[in-house]
Amino acid sequence: MPRVTVSIDPDVCISAANCIGVVPQFFQIGAEPYVQLLDRSGAVAGSVHSFEASDEEFALLEEAAESCPTRAIAVAATGPSSVTE
Ligand code: SF4
Repeated sequence: MPRVTVSIDPDVCISAANCIGVVPQFFQIGAEPYVQLLDRSGAVAGSVHSFEASDEEFALLEEAAESCPTRAIAVAATGPSSVTE
């Protein structure tokens, strides 16, 4: 299971919501004029969030980052993957 850090650049996000379409459980547009990250419980996690993601979640987060028209999302694996060879 990789540890991932997801970050949003609030100055770049235009609330296009593509990311929400890909992974609605991790992104939300609320009171702020930019998307915010959600943790596993659905609580707002701000614009930077690190957590243990499944390989499937990591792939979806990368897809969300690629879907963003302004490249406001950064996804970085910051720990080892549980995938063994
Ligand atoms: S897809 Fe990009 S611009 Fe649109 S809400 Fe998500 S982070 Fe913001």
